[in-house]
Amino acid sequence: MSGKYLDDAISEIGRKIGKEKVLTEPEDLYAYSLDASTERREIPGAIVRAYSDEDVMAVLKVANEKRVPVIPRGGGTSLTGASVPVVPGSIVLDLAPMNEIRVNVDDGYVMAEAGATVLQVDQACRSKGFFFPPDPASSRSATIGGALAENAGGLRGAKFGVMKNWVLAMEVIVPGGKKIRIGEPVLKWRWGPDLISLFIGSEGTLGVITRAWLRIYPLPEKVVRILGVFSRLEDAGKSISEIRRRGYVPMMLELLDRETIEVVKEILGYELPEGEAMVLSDVDGPIESVWRLAKQVEGVMRENGGRTRTSDDPEEMKQLYLARQGAYAAVTRAYPGVLLEDITVPLSKLVDALKELDNLRKEYGLRMPVFGHAGDGNLHPNICFDPSDGDQVRKAKEMFRRVGELAVRLGGAVSGEHGIGFVKRELFLEEIKSVRGENYLELVRKVKEILDPNGIMNPGKLWF
Ligand SMILES: Cc1cc2nc3c(=O)[nH]c(=O)nc-3n(C[C@H](O)[C@H](O)[C@H](O)COP(=O)(O)OP(=O)(O)OC[C@H]3O[C@@H](n4cnc5c(N)ncnc54)[C@H](O)[C@@H]3O)c2cc1C
Repeated sequence: MSGKYLDDAISEIGRKIGKEKVLTEPEDLYAYSLDASTERREIPGAIVRAYSDEDVMAVLKVANEKRVPVIPRGGGTSLTGASVPVVPGSIVLDLAPMNEIRVNVDDGYVMAEAGATVLQVDQACRSKGFFFPPDPASSRSATIGGALAENAGGLRGAKFGVMKNWVLAMEVIVPGGKKIRIGEPVLKWRWGPDLISLFIGSEGTLGVITRAWLRIYPLPEKVVRILGVFSRLEDAGKSISEIRRRGYVPMMLELLDRETIEVVKEILGYELPEGEAMVLSDVDGPIESVWRLAKQVEGVMRENGGRTRTSDDPEEMKQLYLARQGAYAAVTRAYPGVLLEDITVPLSKLVDALKELDNLRKEYGLRMPVFGHAGDGNLHPNICFDPSDGDQVRKAKEMFRRVGELAVRLGGAVSGEHGIGFVKRELFLEEIKSVRGENYLELVRKVKEILDPNGIMNPGKLWF
């Protein structure tokens, strides 16, 4: 990207929306040069802070004319480099200032602008007796726009799924600056082709999501937390598959292996039991039925050799939740290098996946704490290494590829929720070619050409 085009674009955008919204000071550019993946730092050409649709429209009009790349950004918590401006001279479009939230209990939705965080949206709903179910562990910083663009999931996914399950309508702005409204904030409407899904998981490569109307859910009368501790990892996996197979629907069904438990205890100081694995499950519902469901879930864990404890004590429940929520932060503090995986496998293959992961860990001799939303078949193996040791770096990269391959071989996917960014591009392409084939790739490339003919939206991500 030639500096002249960028300079022209910055001046014109400044004229249209106000110079104070355009940042070019080195310290500002530095702050937007990486995301939570921390794999690569690239200094952008400029930052534009969007406060309104008009701001976004102006940026996408000018950038499209001048062929300047635009990287939409929410909280910058992507774990796959999706919000890193990998092409020099890019504009990072910060949506955080667009953060209005309106809860409409009568019609069963919350309207949230792209920059509102997932936690703020959840809290706004809770103040009215409802909640917003998707719950990424990063919910304090992850924004609605970023979560939709990544189709984020989270700890309540076992019952409530991922972001796409909650969208009634959204507004997007595409290159050239046109605003498109898709869907209506009613519980049913005639869809035609589902264009909402086109933008969900698109990682900012097709347009900018500015706001969404999202379904909300009544707060459960009662939540009970069940902890199962296992002396064999595969027994924990068996319990999870079996709980789902019997048709029990816990709100949360999380797995932590021994290496994760040890790191969380050491780094975060939580008191956790000793064991090869822990399963953490929440069940929710009316008081009359919730203890029955808790007993059923607990029963399956016991049948599979688990020692269990069931609690509705708020402090005890909070500690266990925080231990799981903080697992990734603990791992990254404990090890100087971490390659985070995000594979999914069919529930019937969960035990096979855990066994194969354990074999890989032994084969390569690297630490690999595994935790994840296992009730969705979603596992996060964290491959830990010393970045100053060439042999460990090589082994870690090889393991990363093999973990992705094992997921595909078992009928799963290389990413369940963290997306592709640039970190998983190669693995993703291999998965698509081997599973979905060229026809799928061709169709998506055509869609990209229609919406973003000049390729300005987040280049270098997914397969664009
Ligand atoms: C500690 C930790 C825990 C995490 N736990 C989870 C988890 O449990 N579940 C999970 O799914 N993820 C998790 N993540 C990953 C990450 O938080 C999610 O992907 C999140 O949805 C990203 O939101 P964000 O606002 O930070 O997006 P960003 O990182 O800012 O952007 C992510 C992608 O979305 C695009 N984008 C951002 N805003 C928009 C917009 N308005 N319009 C169009 N495109 C946009 C960006 O261009 C980029 O491609 C975790 C991350 C961390 C650091």
